[in-house]
Amino acid sequence: MNRKIEARLFEIAKTIEPVGQARVVACLFKRNKILAIGTNSRRTSILARRYSKNNLSLCDDAEVNCINRYLEKYNKDKIHECSMMIVRAKFVDGKWERGKCKPCSGCKSCISYFGIKEVYYT
Ligand SMILES: [Zn+2]
Repeated sequence: MNRKIEARLFEIAKTIEPVGQARVVACLFKRNKILAIGTNSRRTSILARRYSKNNLSLCDDAEVNCINRYLEKYNKDKIHECSMMIVRAKFVDGKWERGKCKPCSGCKSCISYFGIKEVYYT
């Protein structure tokens, strides 16, 4: 776990609008450099439609959103060299803490489709 990147994602997660009560941020990084950041959002992308848990799900999960953002900037050929980190922030009893955010089956299949091997999550 890259603590610097984890801490940065946690800070971002605190600031985003919750979707289904969850504030989740995912990033793709190589060495110590963040190449793309995604959050869970209400906007549905083509990738999200393909990999969502079910056809009724209109949420674009942070992992899929992040892969989308990466593909807007870079070619997919090197995406497998990136690692992914996913952080969830929760506000409990007046303070922020990390929440569990294991990728769902839809995100897992999207992540493995692009050959991303290392996935870290809180
Ligand atoms: Zn998911």
